[in-house]
Amino acid sequence: MAARDRGRRPRILLVGGGWVGTYTALRLERRLGPAEAEVTLVSPENFLLYQPLLPEVASGTLEARHAVVPLRRVLRRTRLVHGRLTALDHDRRVAAVDVGEGETRELGYDHVAIGLGSVTRLLPVPGLADHAIGFATVADATWLRDHVLDRLEFADASRDPERRRRALTFVFVGGGYTGVEALGELQDLAAEACASYASLEPDDLRWVLVEATDRILPIVDPGLSAYATQALRDRGVRVELSSTLERVEDGCLHLSTGEQLAADTLVWAAGVRPNPLAAELGLPVDDRGAIRVDATLAVRGTPGAWAAGDCAVVPDLVAGDGARAPATAQYAVREARTLGDNLAAAVRGDAPQPFRHRALGELITLGRHDGVAQVLGRVTLRGFLPWYLRRLYYLLQVPTPERKLRVLLDWTISLAFRRDITGLGSVTRGSRARAMGTGGA
Ligand SMILES: Cc1cc2nc3c(=O)[nH]c(=O)nc-3n(C[C@H](O)[C@H](O)[C@H](O)COP(=O)(O)OP(=O)(O)OC[C@H]3O[C@@H](n4cnc5c(N)ncnc54)[C@H](O)[C@@H]3O)c2cc1C
Repeated sequence: MAARDRGRRPRILLVGGGWVGTYTALRLERRLGPAEAEVTLVSPENFLLYQPLLPEVASGTLEARHAVVPLRRVLRRTRLVHGRLTALDHDRRVAAVDVGEGETRELGYDHVAIGLGSVTRLLPVPGLADHAIGFATVADATWLRDHVLDRLEFADASRDPERRRRALTFVFVGGGYTGVEALGELQDLAAEACASYASLEPDDLRWVLVEATDRILPIVDPGLSAYATQALRDRGVRVELSSTLERVEDGCLHLSTGEQLAADTLVWAAGVRPNPLAAELGLPVDDRGAIRVDATLAVRGTPGAWAAGDCAVVPDLVAGDGARAPATAQYAVREARTLGDNLAAAVRGDAPQPFRHRALGELITLGRHDGVAQVLGRVTLRGFLPWYLRRLYYLLQVPTPERKLRVLLDWTISLAFRRDITGLGSVTRGSRARAMGTGGA
């Protein structure tokens, strides 16, 4: 029997407070009146993280709190349950949610929408999990910033050439936008910070980007990849193409080229995979563990279940030929709008509409007021303009005027003054507290 026939409002459960969960909730608040449905969002954090702003958090041009949006402020009618989905019994339409301190709540629903996102994809590289840090959370970005500054402090104080060399070697694996943007911004911070250390010159720092294929930034035109590679090399970054990390032993990184690099810093940015929980919910998944949905974002063969974003295989109708929509925030936010519309339609008994989005392009920062952009697949830009357009785009994207103002002020201050190079002590010198294998990522 439908919820309405039982005399209560239909219950919509959104899982995950990322782009999909938050923007679906916002859409539902616009589409449905308070009497039409009860909407609940389950999220382990009470904020939406703007991951594209993490490189700026790492370099300190943006305050960490300003890269997130407080869910309780932006969502007016959606009930937020702070917790983690642990299991789904879709036959009974009940979700089990761990709310902390050993307490599990059962939440009933009529429709469930899964937006669990992705996790860092680890490869079976010996020693990797114990030595590398990922770059996907606010904690990763702030830890990395403190860690880089801590290594500069150590190198300045130490008189042991070998230890100094190791402290000043920063290796990033993965030449996609995550690795390139994180390296670009952090290298910029470290180069500027050097001026404050009597014994450090920018050339003492060794930055290495290891990429398995023959070019970085595969999502943009080869000409832009070449520009980005040269721009990084001009700043002293070693870009090692067609190379992989083979193993990590005693803090020494062994590359496929035969080179060994003693390094205190290893950042792993070699891709993501769907959140493994997605494959444990009893919903149909592909071989990567991503939930199979049709073009309306309804889970295949499972009435009342929906999914979108990085944890789903969303058909890309614009690209055609069985293509899958890319796992990016640009797509997740548009999928969320369609998902909100379709959930509202389902509540009202209307027909759902298919998801369609034509890629707008890519805006990528290389740090130091430099960047590359590919707009609408054709127009390519390089240099200051794309760097500036990227900031402008995210400034306009961040919801609420208050958040926009905070981001704008941070960026204006960072243009007018030298960077703040204080580390706030979240690093225990030499510790690997955030390495991925120790639960840090
Ligand atoms: C460093 C970085 C930079 C990026 N830059 C860009 C960019 O420039 N442009 C772009 O388009 N994309 C970018 N992306 C990709 C983009 O962030 C993702 O594609 C987007 O976040 C996907 O949205 P989502 O809602 O599917 O997942 P997410 O935004 O990751 O949200 C998933 C949510 O699920 C929650 N969750 C996890 N487990 C549970 C559980 N058990 N129960 C309940 N909730 C749970 C998480 O806490 C999170 O809130 C970047 C990603 C990273 C990491």
